Amino acid sequence: QVLNDFLDLKGNIRVFCRVRPITVGDNFNRPRPVVALGSTSLQLKFAENKSKFYSFDKVFALGSSQDEIFLEVEPVIKSALDGYNACIFAYGQTGTGKTFTMEGTADDPGVIPRVIEALFKQAADINHTFLFSFSMLEIYMGYLKDLLVPQTRKATDVMPPCLSIQTDSKGEIEIDNLVTIQVSDFNQAIRLYRLGCRFRSKASTNSNKSSSRSHCMIRISMTCFDANERPRITNKIWMVDLGGSERVLKTKAWGRRFEEGKAINLSLSALGDVINALQRKNCHIPYRFLGFPQNVKPTLNKVSTFHRNSKLTQVLKDSLGEDSKTLMLVHVSPKEDDLCETQANAQREFEMT
Ligand code: ADP
Ligand code: MG
Repeated sequence: QVLNDFLDLKGNIRVFCRVRPITVGDNFNRPRPVVALGSTSLQLKFAENKSKFYSFDKVFALGSSQDEIFLEVEPVIKSALDGYNACIFAYGQTGTGKTFTMEGTADDPGVIPRVIEALFKQAADINHTFLFSFSMLEIYMGYLKDLLVPQTRKATDVMPPCLSIQTDSKGEIEIDNLVTIQVSDFNQAIRLYRLGCRFRSKASTNSNKSSSRSHCMIRISMTCFDANERPRITNKIWMVDLGGSERVLKTKAWGRRFEEGKAINLSLSALGDVINALQRKNCHIPYRFLGFPQNVKPTLNKVSTFHRNSKLTQVLKDSLGEDSKTLMLVHVSPKEDDLCETQANAQREFEMT
């Protein structure tokens, strides 16, 4: 029984690490300062004989494929179809491959298209009727923006009206007026995803820079009907491409960039605190994910404060918890120049500015 509990808890929050492959622009003074050691350790070589080691549920080495990633993501699909809420996050410094993992390319699709495809495929094999709907939003500077609504302004303009977050009597989170569109197959869902991405990049002066300063969130809600066509369970799966986790002071950002960075850091920190507290509560799991100074014992009271303090955790409040499945895909750079940032992310510690 204890073993079962352990396996079950272990399954609720899993933290993976993916190392970005070396690309043309990367310079290396020494060979490979970032090494995947075995399948669960990450080695950071700071000098010839000074290394640090970090452990994860799994480490994906430089050459890991989208297939390998999806193999670890796939169990979440079954959980979602079983009625669990689920969250899949891509976390890491800008340029480490978060979007590559989540979206992928036309030839090499990532988590989002694969999850959507598998959801429809697996639902078809189940003896219940499922109804799926799709929403997509962005959190930028603490504002929620519906990505299925045409954006008339640039991200850097004054914000359009912000969507507000409500909690219903069952403790479920509802985002007022968030466009939610029923989808009956993969193509419909992907078309909406592409549309949302268009509105996202259109909204920015420099799409890459600006998109790394926001969290992009996709929600697939599902309702499972019983034999009498009555709704049996409703739940959702979130897929989140988080804003870049680089520390603001290091990026020498100023003005609005600095403010954006601070907003991102605050929300990532709140997310880390929530995850960390949930993990501590399960106490079998040795992770320390972002946030809490070692001597501070997180309490659920604290956690709800963090939920309140950040839009990201507010939106995810009913989807991040002991009854939910969470996958954190930590992305790190293979470069020596990024070692400090990589260490901060691997340690999952966070310096507030
Ligand atoms: P992020 O979203 O974290 O800022 P990107 O996903 O945009 O980073 O990745 C930065 C660049 O590196 C992109 O050109 C991307 O195609 C490439 N890249 C990242 N990860 C991989 C990978 N695993 N395999 C191949 N190319 C990758
Ligand atoms: Mg990106």
